[in-house]
Amino acid sequence: MRIDLHVHSTASDGTLTPTQVIEHAAAQGVDVVGLTDHDSPAGWAEGVEAARDLDVMLVPGMEVSTKLGRAGVHVLAYLPDPAFPPLAAELDRIIAGREGRLGAIVEQLRSVGVDITVDDVRRQAAGSPAIGRPHVADVLVAKGVVSDRAEAFRGWLGYGQPGFVVRYATQTDAMVRLIVGAGGAAVIAHPWGRGSRRVLDVDTLAALRDAGLTGIEVDHQDHSPDDRQRLRLIADDLGLVATGASDFHGAGKVDHELGCNLTSPDQFERLLGLAAVNAASSGLRVAEVVGR
Ligand code: AMP
Ligand code: ZN
Ligand code: FE
Ligand code: FE
Repeated sequence: MRIDLHVHSTASDGTLTPTQVIEHAAAQGVDVVGLTDHDSPAGWAEGVEAARDLDVMLVPGMEVSTKLGRAGVHVLAYLPDPAFPPLAAELDRIIAGREGRLGAIVEQLRSVGVDITVDDVRRQAAGSPAIGRPHVADVLVAKGVVSDRAEAFRGWLGYGQPGFVVRYATQTDAMVRLIVGAGGAAVIAHPWGRGSRRVLDVDTLAALRDAGLTGIEVDHQDHSPDDRQRLRLIADDLGLVATGASDFHGAGKVDHELGCNLTSPDQFERLLGLAAVNAASSGLRVAEVVGR
């Protein structure tokens, strides 16, 4: 069983539609896909249909933007009820923050002479509710300002660059509680990636576990072999599930090919079991795994 639990589509900043993601999984021999677009379940309905048609197992999820101190921490929410009002309200706030930031990014870029409009970015995002910097980057590529997303982040959109603007994110511990309240399982994405490694030490992870955290993403391209070994030991010590995933974004992110990191079947079963416990105590109608 090849299990990849962190995958993006055009419902956020991936370049393949949910259907194309599932087709790609079938072609690549990936049996289980966690569809985890940023801050929104918008891709689920299409993904569910494609997964049924193509006999791929689908785990509906999201990658939610949170902050711990001033560091950005991404929290994967598996199988919640996205309509649970406190969670839905918070997701709305995050999406509104993306909208507000978009205007500010465009203004800052224009002020340094880049010919770009909000409408350019909206067209590029093609209806994705989670408009992000990668969509701005794609416009910069289309205009010949840069040659790819990575160059756009390095020179224009990353921290300290002319187009960088802070946006709203929920406190990490509060979001973990919201995901659990919504009947889902919370897993920290790429905990020792650039944004979050300085804030996510063992004690902090232990506190998040006490707030209801289910797991941490251990095998991810942001982590060196040494990071992975240490994170696996921490997961073991804290009783957290250890996942692995590609963080696939289609053509939008190099070196993140679907299936490049995987979750072991035993960790996957633990994750589903713990999600089911949260679902039962929430009393909500949570999202279901397709094809199990
Ligand atoms: P945003 O959510 O709009 O703040 O943008 C962050 C997103 O940009 C994340 O999903 C990353 O996957 C993506 N990203 C960050 N750095 C890069 C990069 N160098 N190349 C491509 N995508 C990136
Ligand atoms: Zn992304
Ligand atoms: Fe992320
Ligand atoms: Fe991601």
